[in-house]
Amino acid sequence: MLRTFKFRLYPSKAQSIIFEQTLETCRVLYNNALEERKNAWENERKSTSYREQQNNLPKLKSNKSSLQSVHSQVLQDVLHRLDQAFHNFFRRVKAGEKPGYPRFKAVNRFDSFTYPQFGNGAKFRDRKLWLSKVGEVNIKLHRGGPFNGWIKNCTIRHDVDRWFVCFTVGLPDTKLGKREIKTAVGVDLGVTNLVALSTGELIENPRWLKHSEERLAVAQRWLSCKKGSKNREKQRLKVARLHRKIRCQRADFFHKLSRKLVDSYDLIVFEKLNIAKMIQNSYAAKCIVDAAWRQLVLFTQYKAEEAGAVVQFVDAANTSQQCSSCSTLVPKDLSERLHACPACGLVLNRDLNAARNILMRNTVGLTGRACGSAALAGC
Ligand SMILES: [Zn+2]
Repeated sequence: MLRTFKFRLYPSKAQSIIFEQTLETCRVLYNNALEERKNAWENERKSTSYREQQNNLPKLKSNKSSLQSVHSQVLQDVLHRLDQAFHNFFRRVKAGEKPGYPRFKAVNRFDSFTYPQFGNGAKFRDRKLWLSKVGEVNIKLHRGGPFNGWIKNCTIRHDVDRWFVCFTVGLPDTKLGKREIKTAVGVDLGVTNLVALSTGELIENPRWLKHSEERLAVAQRWLSCKKGSKNREKQRLKVARLHRKIRCQRADFFHKLSRKLVDSYDLIVFEKLNIAKMIQNSYAAKCIVDAAWRQLVLFTQYKAEEAGAVVQFVDAANTSQQCSSCSTLVPKDLSERLHACPACGLVLNRDLNAARNILMRNTVGLTGRACGSAALAGC
């Protein structure tokens, strides 16, 4: 099982400059390699492989001093990323999706570089991170560091005005699916209530989500007004820092919530995230909500995998229209917050009704009664 661990780096001023120069060198290499592929195809109908571009690197390096100040495997990784972008492009073409040809990277759009083989160009030395062509960089090793697994690679990442390192670590597979399934919960993801649990618990939108929309709107307005001015870079940083703050708060919130779900239930049932349903949503901060849903599902999935709990995804059709007590379809539009069934008389919060339907659609066969759920006791 692969896991990523992120740590803050504290480079010196000189090291920050090297980091920035490395990013720029990688970005230029990426764009040049993309142009080469594009030209070869447009002029000669010839496709260029990763191997060809990699073999060409030493020649490029002898002509360009900037390339010489970056570790060779970091440069190879840049070509790998481009190759991956083309693979994804062809896969989308084949699948009949919107293809999205690989794009040139603008300044500020290239924010990381990777040492693909930890131990080669990157290693620990005296609790510092030693990087080839950079030196020993101060790192804050909280959680005791990622030393229990095998570090495969490390990526240096620029986040607005901070630097981080992400280690990809191979961990031994855990007791996958070993837990006996006795308790189960259905999770409905919504907009009015971020999360509704089939147990009757409603988790309202946290404050960071409510405020983030207004704060971002104000910040974005500044950004668009000042276009072309000297202040623009300052404003861009301001917005980026705000985005980062929301991201951190969101991650913290979902780490706690997913931990709670995995610790309390052996089976956790989500509805399949439905893009069409998301787009219908007129809620202005919907991109934030969408990202939030995905994050909760992702965090729950990997925590469940580690703890031997099971995550299931069920068909999302009519989860809010169907009565969770008698299965009658009770049509309601988005503004109706209450499920009131004319057939059996069940009156229940709309999202809780959906969460109960989601739970009942699991194929393990658990209804949640086993956990003595209060919400299901009345049906
Ligand atoms: Zn009913």
